Amino acid sequence: MEKEKIQELKSILKSRLNRPLRYYTDTCTRCGICYDSCHAFYGIPKKEYSPVGRAEVVRKLLKKYTRPSGFLFPYWGDAMKLGDAVLDQVFEAAWSCTGCRRCMVNCPFGIDTGQIMGVAKHLLIENGTAPEELIMLADAAVEKGKSIDQFKEGYKQVIHDLEKEVQKKLNLPSPDGLIPMEKQGADILYVGLAGAHSIVNPAIIFNAAKANWTLSFFEAVNFGFFAGDPDKTNFIAQRIIKEAMALNVKEVVIVECGTAFRILRALMGKLPFRVSSIVEVIHRYVEEGKVKLNKNSVSEPVTYHDPCQLGRNGGVFEEPRAVIRKIVSDYREMSPTREQNWCCGGGGGLVALDNEDFRIKTGKAKKDQIVATGAKIVVTACENCVSQLKTIKGGYGLDIEVKYLSELVCENLAIQSSE
Ligand code: SF4
Ligand code: SF4
Repeated sequence: MEKEKIQELKSILKSRLNRPLRYYTDTCTRCGICYDSCHAFYGIPKKEYSPVGRAEVVRKLLKKYTRPSGFLFPYWGDAMKLGDAVLDQVFEAAWSCTGCRRCMVNCPFGIDTGQIMGVAKHLLIENGTAPEELIMLADAAVEKGKSIDQFKEGYKQVIHDLEKEVQKKLNLPSPDGLIPMEKQGADILYVGLAGAHSIVNPAIIFNAAKANWTLSFFEAVNFGFFAGDPDKTNFIAQRIIKEAMALNVKEVVIVECGTAFRILRALMGKLPFRVSSIVEVIHRYVEEGKVKLNKNSVSEPVTYHDPCQLGRNGGVFEEPRAVIRKIVSDYREMSPTREQNWCCGGGGGLVALDNEDFRIKTGKAKKDQIVATGAKIVVTACENCVSQLKTIKGGYGLDIEVKYLSELVCENLAIQSSE
């Protein structure tokens, strides 16, 4: 490996060594409690797929390049030198971890392996060996942010076609204005994804609730975060923040995407507007009577999968359950549940990579949980989770349907007659 490259990677290690990382890497006692917390280790019981096994790779590099002992006694202890083989280990560690943080809630010291893997991903970005798919998607999002005016007219046309679906569902006389865009002073800026379902279902719900809302030009998903690139993460998130501020909205509502929600709600500092998940907003509308549901209209057994970034890392547990319980008569909780719920294995950008066999194996914990409930419908509230649950369904031949919460709500909406 070239000297310049090693210098660049060393400076990444040094720049990332903040107080929490120092604590995480110094405190681990190798007690091994976290092994059984990780769905990847559950599916493939090898040390390199355990939280502590992953963190060791980064810890050894930090020891070598950021500690005096690594400099003074380079061949002492378990410090590890940068090189292609080591970076292959870094890749394997980073790209087998979904950042679900189930290990963190079970570690007696609260060690955040997801954050340690953030350093691993940053090294791979600098080394030019991060997954190409994610880099391309992040670059496309950055490009769109730089030249949004080029995209606006084409996007408005696409959205106009989607308005007809909203009109049909709600039996309204005209599709015009059912998905407003660039509406100055709207209460809500809703940020969806590229797929039509992520816009049509929420648009049906906003219209049913007679909300004063407007649709963002951007997608909520942050491929910069998945790739592990802090600059692109910030740029992609700032596009939405700037749009919300320019429109002077009171609230930004994020599509069913756990990571996008957590980034804006928890990682971007204090913002001049409220950040909510569409799940919280649906619950609010149902509680306020603005959205009416057909009660007990689903009799098949239904369970709910907590997306890690919405539930364990975002604190949204009860709202989706309250909505589902209004619609279904046979709700079955997974075990374990809420903050101890197993990760599906698709988060952290893994679902966008060509690794389906790995994800089927590491989805075994989730498969076992679903089967144990006997549910025929698995509801969740995250794009990545839906994709991964469908992969698990196919991989294990499960007789289940996977649905978004917004989809379940729209299918069971008590439609008011139009005035
Ligand atoms: S549970 Fe915590 S202290 Fe124990 S091995 Fe895992 S990360 Fe280290
Ligand atoms: S964050 Fe999740 S995937 Fe990563 S090591 Fe911890 S339990 Fe495993």
